Amino acid sequence: MSRLALVTGGTRGIGLAISRHLAAGGCRVLLNYRSDLESAKRGLEQIREAGGEAELVQCDVSDSEAAAKMFALIRREYGQLDHFVSNAGITDDGYGIMMSPKKWQSVIDTNLNGAFGCIRSAARQMSARRSGSIVAIASTSAVNAPAGQSNYAASKAGLVAAIRVLAKEVGQFGVRVNAVLPGFVETAMTRTVPGDQLQQHLDHVPLGRIAVADDVAPAVSFLLSDAASYITGSTLTIDGGLTC
Ligand code: NAP
Repeated sequence: MSRLALVTGGTRGIGLAISRHLAAGGCRVLLNYRSDLESAKRGLEQIREAGGEAELVQCDVSDSEAAAKMFALIRREYGQLDHFVSNAGITDDGYGIMMSPKKWQSVIDTNLNGAFGCIRSAARQMSARRSGSIVAIASTSAVNAPAGQSNYAASKAGLVAAIRVLAKEVGQFGVRVNAVLPGFVETAMTRTVPGDQLQQHLDHVPLGRIAVADDVAPAVSFLLSDAASYITGSTLTIDGGLTC
């Protein structure tokens, strides 16, 4: 029987690449999205046209009640999750001293509270069944503190800290939890970054290019798979050497 995977924000960007990769590896993949149904349908079609098994699940992960309902619905309609990828995330940059409380809160609500709430729900189900693996998509911003991203960096650093603690707590139940920290990846999230800022960033990337989503997806698949059965509580940086 195929394994069941849920990817939040699985309908475009890095999440879609991860979903495609998991489906190509034989998983039945549930693609969560927040509101963009058109791009969600396009992502779903891509996977199905390639012969993969996938379904859409709408939910705003920053709404804790809606997220709890999504996990209950999945369990009822699709069965037990084998893999969970917490990928949904947003940026809303601005200098810290000027940042409105709303701007701070919305990023924390999605990237930290929403992500960890979903990870907890997945870990609870998996612990009861004594197996499962989880990957959280964090960011190099958690460690290299880019100006203008205090909200984002705090959300991702908090997420990394939380999943490391969780890995210690649920390892005894056969559940593994890891994080990946991508550097700059070409997606809708980064498309508006001005050319001069992009060049400044590239000057610090030893591999001399920015990443594409398919640079991240195979690493996530690996961490979810049985090939990584002795890896938990770890963080894997995928940044072309930016932070080395
Ligand atoms: P993206 O292209 O903007 O795609 C974001 C996806 O997340 C979409 O499917 C979106 O759904 C979904 N999403 C956003 N907020 C959501 C919410 N509250 N509830 C449910 N789904 C939500 O982003 P990306 O660049 O692929 O980034 C994916 C992850 O990688 C994020 O966690 C990001 O922080 C992280 N990351 C990105 C980069 C980068 O350079 N791109 C680098 C490091 C880490 P809709 O389409 O419905 O809006």
